[in-house]
Amino acid sequence: MKNNSISTLVRENILKLQPYISFRDHNEFNAPVFLDANESPFGDCNRYPDSTQRKLKNRLAELKNLSPSQIAVGNGSDELIDLIIKIFCEPKKDSVLMMNPSFAMYAFYATINENKVLTLDLNDRFEIVQNDFSEVVKDPSLKVFFLCSPNNPTGNSVDDIEFYLQNFKGIVVVDEAYIEFSGKKSSLELLDRYPNLIVLQTFSKAWGAAGARAGIAYASEEIIRLINTVKAPYNVNVLSQELILKALENENRLQENVNNILEERLWLQEQFRDIDCISKVFPTDANFFLIRMENIDQVYGRMLENEILTSRRDPAIAGCIRINVGSREENQKLVNLLKNIKR
Ligand SMILES: *Cc1c(COP(=O)(O)O)cnc(C)c1O
Repeated sequence: MKNNSISTLVRENILKLQPYISFRDHNEFNAPVFLDANESPFGDCNRYPDSTQRKLKNRLAELKNLSPSQIAVGNGSDELIDLIIKIFCEPKKDSVLMMNPSFAMYAFYATINENKVLTLDLNDRFEIVQNDFSEVVKDPSLKVFFLCSPNNPTGNSVDDIEFYLQNFKGIVVVDEAYIEFSGKKSSLELLDRYPNLIVLQTFSKAWGAAGARAGIAYASEEIIRLINTVKAPYNVNVLSQELILKALENENRLQENVNNILEERLWLQEQFRDIDCISKVFPTDANFFLIRMENIDQVYGRMLENEILTSRRDPAIAGCIRINVGSREENQKLVNLLKNIKR
């Protein structure tokens, strides 16, 4: 896809939209007196946040070897999913494509925006069937394809992402919420070659900051400009921006946490081998397992009674529960309970 063809994918009203510009965020000052935004001079968090999230983007740009103009920050990647659909999909006319099963928020926001959701049913190893893809992409209403890799809730990564970038005529969003756990290469390195690519990452999983609500979109400058134009100006609050910046100061901490989760993942996998009520543990590249149970009603019920919360995927995925890797103490509680359930 040629760079200049991105604008042909954008809704007309969005193309014409002028961004809300906060004057103070777009200029340098030495000792400013802020009487421009009707804020209070008192209080602990009295100023509006930086609408351009400059410090955060500069730091991320440094880490990822990109330009700050290729980075947009959202109130979680959920917000970015919503904005991407709003930018490219005309309500009641355009549609989005997603894998099935995959992350529910793509369909959630598409439905709110009145866009149809077309799905690619994954095979029994949770892979995309490329023939099905080649068929469905003939639909001219398709604008955005959400590729989740590693995929939630199945845990496996998508192979051959470039094939989809080359053969989808709209925007391809690669959602890398779990990439840190996968040991696989990020699609960030494909940004130079594919102007229709958006890579989503998040602080909610490996970074351990789900409460701060911060997600990142990496894409061409043109797409990032569009996201910055449609986002709420103050979408990431002061406290969250500070917390994330602090987290970014300490990259080693991220690696330590990821290593810890990976060790626990391995430990759990070994424990699961001796558990009667488990019939299958699917391979995972993420911080969770999709597990098929012998008797899901019984197992899920027993977990709930013991206040062990997991994500039931049955009936959409027959007999399956998604369970994420916790601390050793949490994992031990889970294992103890499962070992006590007879099939
Ligand atoms: C958890 C998750 C996210 C993260 O969403 P945030 O809004 O950033 O918390 C995004 N995509 C997928 C597939 C997820 O599982």
